[in-house]
Amino acid sequence: MTPLDPLPHLAALSEAELLALLRTRVPTATPTHARRLLAAWFARPGVKTDQPKPVRRELHQACAELTRSDTLQIIEMSTDPDDGFVKYLLRSPDGAVHEAVQIPLQAEGCFSVCLSSQVGCAMGCVFCATGRLGLQRHLQAWEMVEAFRLVRLHAPGRVSGAVFMGQGEPLHNYDEVMRAAAAIAQPYTGRIAADAITISTVGLAPQLLRFAAEKRPYRLVVSLTSAVEERRAQLLPITQKHSLSELAAAMRAVHAATRQRLTVAWVVMAGVNTGDDEVAALQALFGDLPLRINLIDVNDARPDGFVRAEAEELAAFRDRLQVLRQPVVRRYSGGRQRHAACGMLAATRWGG
Ligand code: SF4
Repeated sequence: MTPLDPLPHLAALSEAELLALLRTRVPTATPTHARRLLAAWFARPGVKTDQPKPVRRELHQACAELTRSDTLQIIEMSTDPDDGFVKYLLRSPDGAVHEAVQIPLQAEGCFSVCLSSQVGCAMGCVFCATGRLGLQRHLQAWEMVEAFRLVRLHAPGRVSGAVFMGQGEPLHNYDEVMRAAAAIAQPYTGRIAADAITISTVGLAPQLLRFAAEKRPYRLVVSLTSAVEERRAQLLPITQKHSLSELAAAMRAVHAATRQRLTVAWVVMAGVNTGDDEVAALQALFGDLPLRINLIDVNDARPDGFVRAEAEELAAFRDRLQVLRQPVVRRYSGGRQRHAACGMLAATRWGG
């Protein structure tokens, strides 16, 4: 691997940051100049601006010297024949390989982009292929923004959302993920509404408190999967560091600061986390905190791995959850045939 260039990347700069850089070379640069350069870069190829020529030349030269604008290489795109999810295998300039997924939404012709935040992951959730890779490195903000841009470029319709649910624990790479989300939400670059950007976490309580204190406008999904301390500690080892009560307190703080109804993701594993004890523990932990519970089938490709619950077990669990009086949704996790589904991303090529 070659080290990444230390220059700031254009993809992850705000208008104010680019303007400050440009003004070190071109004192007459304006916010409009910075905005147009960013917008033109995002809409590549064929970067154009409509500035008068001498200014344009100066601005482009300053931009080229003060920032980097390289890209990721698409190694492979593979489409799941069942549901149209497209997995993108991407290579960074230093050789690191990671993934993004183009997700068809129910709204006709619309898509969302699932982004990785790290290469591998340090959290070690036992049902997740990424967790078995260990953490190789954090992705930089520009790599996430560039992954978003590339997937959007290939999408056959409008991209209306972005989710940080690919490889990695986004809040373990807090600063870079927030920088990437801000760039994706800029009206002249990513053009995604802030509340259509979702960040998923296994529950890093201190970072959730920071998210609350900073009143970040993005939607949060907390991957809970079990509300029974000992079981969750086995399934999601982060629980040994941040207890469920610490996590619940942090989620309350997020709700108090942002008023959003938090989504709880529940990876359903047959015979593991569908019992009465889970429902009682959920009730004790959260009481009347407004939640949305998303049930997601486990995706474990190992022959001896976790198994999906049959319809009967799932229906019984859903019935039991009614006592919480919170919306319960079964969320589809697609791309399974191409190992693009939740928990399956491991930077593997499809077909060798
Ligand atoms: S589920 Fe998420 S946090 Fe857990 S190991 Fe996989 S990528 Fe990391």
